[in-house]
Amino acid sequence: MHELKFDQDLCLRCGTQACLTKCQYIEFDGETAKKEILKIATGRDSFVLHKCVTCYACEEYCPFGNHPFYLIAERQEALGISPVPRPLVQRAVNLGIPFRGEPDIKEINGPVLNMGAFSDHMHLIQGKLFEGLPVISTDERKMFHYFCQLMYLHYGKDSVIKKRLPGIIETIAKHKPTEVICFHDECYGAYTSYCDAYGIEVPFKPIHFFEYLYNRLIELKNMIQPVKLKVAYQRPCSSRLSPDKHLFVGRIFNLIGAENVKREFVDENALCCAGAIQGQRQEGSRKRAVIQQQRNVEDMKKAGAQVCVFNCPACLQTIGDLVARNGIKPIHMTDLCRLAIGEIPAGWR
Ligand code: SF4
Ligand code: SF4
Repeated sequence: MHELKFDQDLCLRCGTQACLTKCQYIEFDGETAKKEILKIATGRDSFVLHKCVTCYACEEYCPFGNHPFYLIAERQEALGISPVPRPLVQRAVNLGIPFRGEPDIKEINGPVLNMGAFSDHMHLIQGKLFEGLPVISTDERKMFHYFCQLMYLHYGKDSVIKKRLPGIIETIAKHKPTEVICFHDECYGAYTSYCDAYGIEVPFKPIHFFEYLYNRLIELKNMIQPVKLKVAYQRPCSSRLSPDKHLFVGRIFNLIGAENVKREFVDENALCCAGAIQGQRQEGSRKRAVIQQQRNVEDMKKAGAQVCVFNCPACLQTIGDLVARNGIKPIHMTDLCRLAIGEIPAGWR
């Protein structure tokens, strides 16, 4: 079984305990943060394991790449502390079973786009941005052969990821891709951050979706007409696993003439869509999620955003309606990029 690379001595020497002192959901002073992270590292119970809303952000906050959130998720499972009601955990685990049938393997010998579990979002993969790019995806029989499984970090079910992920990687590798462009940055986080943390070998080169979009837009630069829209970006929890790729959000906006409005909840200080929080077991979770979503959208409104740009389809599903009810148009990043090259996505007026 693959073991997490977590260096407890690093926490002893760490001056900041930023993993926990920056947490937006639990309050800590430096001393308490140090005590609690060491408790977790040595397998003891901590209130953090019960209060964590699984926002992934401490993975980004730790300046040493020591993987505090993977540690939290692992310990939640080891100590039987489920963030989500157990019947929902079982239902989710059954939903994403990957190997119920044989996938249709075709050798690609070039770049491929992996849609992961988002096969019902092919409407986002249209036009010149994706011309000639082969796609692998969960098929119509709902076989999750390409679903990275990292979602189970929200369910305190790290063992499911460890069990299934190597087989998913093997299936992708059978297509012989030179590069695997990950539509969802949770997949990108799985093949880079998570696999590195657990020493799982990845025999292909993962590419972040926004890096692909940016490079493709550069190729199509002559077609770009500035969109001249004031935009707010909804940063998903999964992007905390690849903070080095977050810069492509700003680069894309600059390239297509979108004005990224100045907000409180941006970059490291971003608020997640609260989709994971609303389903949690902790008392008052639903109310807490609603308050967070309202604060987030108020912040977009105050900053004068006309459009809210989404990375993750699940975030769009969770708060897209609320955003729209507040007079801000929700749009996925691919559709915004298509607008910039003169393609009008369905539903855009
Ligand atoms: S996980 Fe990172 S930030 Fe947290 S105490 Fe350890 S080294 Fe410091
Ligand atoms: S995952 Fe989020 S809520 Fe949980 S400890 Fe880390 S920063 Fe705090």
